[in-house]
Amino acid sequence: MSIAIYPGSFDPVTLGHLNIIKRASACFDKLIVCVMVNSKKHGMFTPEERVELIRRVVAKLPNVEADCSSTLIAEYARQKRACTLVKGLRAVSDFEQEVQMAVINRKLNPRLETMFLASSEKYTYLSSTIVKEMARYGADLADFVPREIVDAVNQRMRELEGTEGKEG
Ligand code: ADP
Repeated sequence: MSIAIYPGSFDPVTLGHLNIIKRASACFDKLIVCVMVNSKKHGMFTPEERVELIRRVVAKLPNVEADCSSTLIAEYARQKRACTLVKGLRAVSDFEQEVQMAVINRKLNPRLETMFLASSEKYTYLSSTIVKEMARYGADLADFVPREIVDAVNQRMRELEGTEGKEG
């Protein structure tokens, strides 16, 4: 069985991510979308919440699972018997760091290949950071995140803004 992992922060999952998920899931028997936990970085959503949002979005894709991990991705791939990491490339700016990561991951786990999918031209501008900015200004998020999670993102932004307001 061919198993691939699509790692990232997914804070939150965007239409750009979903585009990569759909295309990659057509290439493998199983695709695991893995939220990589970075304890130094506090996100809009906790890692568990991000997994929950991804699950909502991929509910209709039978060979896609969501998970989170705080171990090295090369080690996580070994545990899951995955042979491929999937990465999305939006622009040349993504390329340098992603190639460096691919070389390191293959050093750590020689059986692990990294596959790059070029972003759909519709989503080259899209990142989770842009989504958070748009949500902050009350923009319609339907063009940026899957509709199943629009309300959750808006609600969390209101909660965060409320907290910030109270803190002064
Ligand atoms: P970001 O926070 O910048 O959105 P993530 O760490 O969540 O990024 O991204 C996970 C993976 O998805 C990375 O391989 C990244 O290059 C890719 N990715 C992110 N946004 C897009 C997009 N709009 N189109 C294609 N790939 C993307």
